[in-house]
Amino acid sequence: MPDVISLPQQQVPVVASCDVLVVGGGAAGISAAIAAARQGADVVLVERYGYLGGLASGGLIVLLLTLDDGDGRQVVAGQCQELVERLAARGACFYPPAGEWGARDEGLIAGYRRWGLVWGSGPHRVRYSVAYDPEELKYVATTWVGEAGVRLMLHRWASDVVFELERPHGRPAGRLSHVVFTSKAGRQAVRAAQVIDASGDGDIFALAGEAYDSERVHPWLWFRMAGVRAPDERASEASSHGDRDAFAFRTLNPGQALLPWGAAERIARRIDATDPDDLTFAEVECRRMVMDEVDRLRAQAPGFEQAYLTDVALTLGITESRRLRGAHVLAREEVDHVFPDAIASTGHWTKYGAVYHIPYRSLLPLRASNLLAAGRCISVDHRVHHATKEIPACFATGEAAGIAAAQALRSGRAVQDIDVPALQSALRRAGAWLPDLTCGE
Ligand SMILES: Cc1cc2nc3c(=O)[nH]c(=O)nc-3n(C[C@H](O)[C@H](O)[C@H](O)COP(=O)(O)OP(=O)(O)OC[C@H]3O[C@@H](n4cnc5c(N)ncnc54)[C@H](O)[C@@H]3O)c2cc1C
Repeated sequence: MPDVISLPQQQVPVVASCDVLVVGGGAAGISAAIAAARQGADVVLVERYGYLGGLASGGLIVLLLTLDDGDGRQVVAGQCQELVERLAARGACFYPPAGEWGARDEGLIAGYRRWGLVWGSGPHRVRYSVAYDPEELKYVATTWVGEAGVRLMLHRWASDVVFELERPHGRPAGRLSHVVFTSKAGRQAVRAAQVIDASGDGDIFALAGEAYDSERVHPWLWFRMAGVRAPDERASEASSHGDRDAFAFRTLNPGQALLPWGAAERIARRIDATDPDDLTFAEVECRRMVMDEVDRLRAQAPGFEQAYLTDVALTLGITESRRLRGAHVLAREEVDHVFPDAIASTGHWTKYGAVYHIPYRSLLPLRASNLLAAGRCISVDHRVHHATKEIPACFATGEAAGIAAAQALRSGRAVQDIDVPALQSALRRAGAWLPDLTCGE
C-alpha cells in the first residue's frame, strides 16, 4: 500500500481567460504565442521561470542549428528568420552570409567550426546556423511577445488540467477547459479555448491523458568562461579527433568561450527528466563535473590559465523526455517525404541534404480536441527527434501550432478538423518555408 495523503477539496481562482493558452516560454512557446496573437487571438503565455527562452537561453544552448538543408537552401524561415533579424539588429548574433551556405571551402568551415556551427562527420559544407547571446535572446523574446500583444504570466508551474469528456468512446474524446498552475500565490487556473503544450517535456498532454513515449538521457550542463586567451583560435580541427579542449567555442563576447562539454557521457547514468529525484541527482553531479572541468581546463588547457567561470546554465540540458504519440509519428524512414499536410521542415544538424517535412498530424493528440503540441515534444520517433528538437525546428512547429490554434478558434472546429491547406497558406503568408506540396503523395 503506497504511503499517501488526501487533500481537502479546494476552490481554485480562475485568474485569466483567453483564446489561446501557451504553456512554456521556450523557443516553441515564444513562436506559438506570437503566431497566434498575430492571427488576432487573445493569447496568454505561461512560463514556470522568470525569463523566456527555455533551453535556448537558460540552458545556454546558444546555437541555432540549422536553418538550411546542408545543400545551401534555407528550409526554416518565418519567425525563426525574424528572430535572427531581431538579434542581428542588436549586434547579438553571428552567422555565415547567404552567399557562403553550402560552400565546401575548408578555410571557411574551420572558421565556423570555432563558433560551434559545424557538426557531424564530413565532408562538410557551410551551414546556415547562428551563434547568439542568451541574455539578448531573453530581452528580444520578451519585447517581441509584448509587441504582439501576448499576455505574459511568469513564475507559474502547470500542475493540473481540467479535461471535459465529450465523447467517451470517440476521438477526440473531449477538451481541456482549464490549466491549473502552482505559484507563490497558491494554485491558479487559466481558462482557455485552445491550449498549446510547449513545455518541452509534454507536461500538458501527459496531464491530459494523451499517449506518449519517454526517453532517458544523459543530462548536460553548458557553461561559459571568460579570460580565455585567444578563444577564437582554440576550437580547432582537433575536435574531430575527440579532443575535449577543442569544444571551447567562440562567443560574441571577446575572451569568452562557450563550453558544451559539461557532464554528458561521463555521468554515471541516464535520467528521466520528468522525475524530480533524477533531476536532483543530475543537478548535483553535473555541477560537480562542471567545476572539475573548469579546474582541469585551467590546469591543462593552453589559453585557459587565467580563465574564470562566468555562468553555468540555469537549467539542465535535457535533449529528450516525453514525445507525444499523436496522429502521426514521424519516422526516420520518412526523411525527405513531403506529406500533404506538411506545416514545417527542418534539415539535420549532423547530416547534409536530409530534410524532414513535419506533418500537421505530428502536432495533434488523439484525445483532446483543443490541444496541440509544439517544440521538442512533438510526435516523432527517437531518431527524427534529433532533428526536430533543434531550436529552428521548434520555432517552426511553434509557429504552425499558433496559427492552427487561432484557426480552430475562428472556425469553431476541433484541431483535428481544421482546414490544413488554409493553415499552410497562412504559414506561407507569414513567411514560413514550406516544401512544394505537389511533390508528395
Ligand atoms: C545539450 C543540448 C544541446 C543542444 N544543442 C543544440 C544546438 O546546438 N542547437 C540547437 O538548435 N538546438 C540544440 N539543442 C536542442 C534545443 O536546445 C531544444 O530542444 C529546444 O531549445 C527546445 O525548445 P522547446 O521550446 O521545445 O523546449 P524548452 O526550451 O525546454 O522550453 C520549454 C519551456 O517550458 C517551461 N516549462 C516546462 N514545464 C513547464 C510547466 N509545467 N509549467 C510552465 N512552464 C513549463 C520551461 O521552463 C521552458 O521555458 C540542444 C539541446 C540540449 C539539451
